This record gives sequence, C-alpha cells and structure tokens, in this order.
Amino acid sequence: MIEDSYRHRGMRRALIKTLEEKGISDPKVLNALKKVPRHVFFDKAFLEHAYQDKAFPIGEGQTISQPYTVAVQTELAQIVPGDKVLEIGTGSGYQCCILLELEAKVYTIEYLRPLHLQAKNLLTSMGYQAHFIHGDGSKGFSAYAPYDKIIVTAGAPSVPEILIEQLAAPGKLVIPVGGSERQEMVTIQKLPGNKIIKKEHNYFSFVPLLGEQGWRK
Ligand code: SAH
Repeated sequence: MIEDSYRHRGMRRALIKTLEEKGISDPKVLNALKKVPRHVFFDKAFLEHAYQDKAFPIGEGQTISQPYTVAVQTELAQIVPGDKVLEIGTGSGYQCCILLELEAKVYTIEYLRPLHLQAKNLLTSMGYQAHFIHGDGSKGFSAYAPYDKIIVTAGAPSVPEILIEQLAAPGKLVIPVGGSERQEMVTIQKLPGNKIIKKEHNYFSFVPLLGEQGWRK
C-alpha cells in the first residue's frame, strides 16, 4: 500500500513552490509534480531527502533526477494528452510517472536490468501503466517509432542521429549533451516536411548515457 499522508503532501507543496521560484511556470507540469509521491522512490530512512530539490542515489550507480531537472525536461517536451513518448533512462521511474500524469502514452527504456525491473514493479504497484523496455536506448527503440516526443535522461556525448529519425514530424527531442561534468540541454524539433530546429538551453549534470551511441559500449 502506498502511503501518501498530509505531511508528505505538505512537503510536496513546498517543493513545488521552490520549483516555481526557480522559474518553472507551466501549470500542467507543476500539477503533475504535485500529484506524484516522490517519497515512494526513497527508503523510509531518507524521507527528508525526497522533497528536497536534488538528485539522489537509487542503486547501480544511478540517480533519481533532481525535481527541477525533471520539470525543465518535461516543460521543454511540451507534452499534450495522447502524445507517444519515448523516455530513455527509466531509472527510478519518477519522470515516467510525471509523463503519465500528463496523459502521455509512455515507452520507457532502461539499460540496467535491476533498475528496469524495480521501476516496472514499483510503478505497476502504484497503478501506473507504461511500456517498460530493457535495452540500450541510446539507439532509441525502433519497434514503436515514430514518437511525438523523446526525452533522454542521461548525458550524451552528442545527439544520436537515430533518435532524430525516430521522431514524428512534428516531434521534439529533449537531450542533455556534453562531457562527464556538465551537459547542455538541447532540444531538436522536427517540423512537418522534416525541417529541423535545434536549440540550446541551460547546463545540467546527468549520469552518462551508456550503450552504442553513449559513452560505454
Ligand atoms: N528518468 C530517471 C533518471 C534516471 S538517471 C528518473 O526519473 O529517475 C538515468 C538512467 O539512464 C539510469 O538509470 C541509467 O541506467 C539509464 N541509462 C543510461 N544509459 C542508458 C541507455 N543507453 N539506455 C537506457 N537507459 C540508460
């Protein structure tokens, strides 16, 4: 049974306020963040950390992304209900829940099997429904392409061309690109007629994208 008490909800409201102060303004994104109990992704002993605006270890050397980062990526993706979204890097499954609250149809892929299984079990027990895939998402996932939106939640050395190919037109890719220390958030919009618009945003710090188009084969 998932416990979401008055205290948890209070802590969540405070976190949302912090995100608003940091510049997150899309009411739909804020509302989704308000709905998803982030403490469920933490061991009880670390409750205080669940509603701080920071990343946190989830095992296997990976992290649950910072709420601000999740909010920025989700805002940039401009999710509308019914969007078919590929999330690369399931990790804890938190970002996936946010996408589901925005009524997206989510395909989420994770490279590390223990994390894939953990997220699949947890989200299912929470009543969330997504397609959980175990594999190398640096190549996207061609079986269900094209996607209206692709969100990469690990830092890539460059933008894999194959991800642009798997975008619908119109469609949008949100991907952090750069070295191991910091990465620039990049958006690639594909317009009808396959015209591409690339934009660079702020800097963030992600764990590395692994796999064929990532840092480690
Ligand atoms: N979206 C996640 C963030 C997790 S951190 C969340 O909300 O918690 C990034 C995740 O990307 C890690 O779990 C890591 O194992 C995974 N990852 C790294 N390279 C990958 C690849 N090539 N394909 C799929 N997942 C990958």
